[in-house]
Amino acid sequence: MARVTTTNRRDALRAGAGLLAGGALAAGCASGPAAPAAATASPTTPQAPSATVRASTAPAPRAYPGLPAQITHGPRTRPQVALTFHGQGDPDLARTLLTRAERHGARLTVLAVGTWLDEHPGIARRILDGGHDLGNHTQHHISVNDLAEADARKEIADCADRLRRLTGSIGTWFRPSRSPTASALVAELARQTGYPHVLSYDVDSLDYTRPGAAAVTRKVLSEVREGSVVSLHFGYEDTVAALPDVLTELGRRHLRAVTTTELLS
Ligand SMILES: [Zn+2]
Repeated sequence: MARVTTTNRRDALRAGAGLLAGGALAAGCASGPAAPAAATASPTTPQAPSATVRASTAPAPRAYPGLPAQITHGPRTRPQVALTFHGQGDPDLARTLLTRAERHGARLTVLAVGTWLDEHPGIARRILDGGHDLGNHTQHHISVNDLAEADARKEIADCADRLRRLTGSIGTWFRPSRSPTASALVAELARQTGYPHVLSYDVDSLDYTRPGAAAVTRKVLSEVREGSVVSLHFGYEDTVAALPDVLTELGRRHLRAVTTTELLS
């Protein structure tokens, strides 16, 4: 616990804003169908023809001078927001959500769990082909901040390897699993793996608590503002159902849903 001291201030601010109902570990990305036991079942090697990878290599992470190591939001001065998703769960729900976003002209950021990519290797290219950002959300979605250094390093590196094999890049972002922010150690391990920044967020949709689509919509729209990074999850029907209303209202407020890369560019 001592090593999270650098994030305590941010956590305290979040808790003060009512974003953390039950401490950091209960915040977004605390749930999901990830099961470490199942994760070891199918470490399949994705098929990715090298010519294809070379022809459409995905963007690599970038350093953003002036921005903190852990990014919670973008500029408050431009009418843009980033909708960011825990990438796991039913791939059909994920495809439906991506298609709905694209119909609204929205671009998303998907932080993929490595085992999800193992099970559904085609989803990585589907995400990139839609113009969305794709990033690393650890290999097994266990509480990465609580792991020993070697294990935490492996959780980050193994997912990076999946992304590299499937897309030619380790992805543009890293987000820790089961915590909105990374410990100082995990942030450093992510940096060593090639991610200069950790992508946190300033709006938690709480969609993973299955509160119903209307509640997801209300929660997001009551807190989102210029520059917000919103935490959402693939794998939940509430989220898929809420998305069109969220995007319609964002449009009414002249807030564009863009990739995190575009938000920060
Ligand atoms: Zn997550």
